[in-house]
Amino acid sequence: MSDVTFQPGLWYDVTARDDNPECVNFGKEFEVNPCYSNGGIVVIECGLCKQTMTILKAILLDPQPEVS
Ligand SMILES: [Zn+2]
Repeated sequence: MSDVTFQPGLWYDVTARDDNPECVNFGKEFEVNPCYSNGGIVVIECGLCKQTMTILKAILLDPQPEVS
């Protein structure tokens, strides 16, 4: 679980960490930018182990990116 809260429908710069000790990405931090908050719940999966990463921080993008 994470303390980070998202407002729905906005774009963020998100930093997430893989906390799966069996994964080679264990302990590594990944930036996802832009990351869409959907309905206010953001799930970032590790591309290798498919486990949900721990979201460390999320910065609301200002300005929000143009989406066509
Ligand atoms: Zn992983």
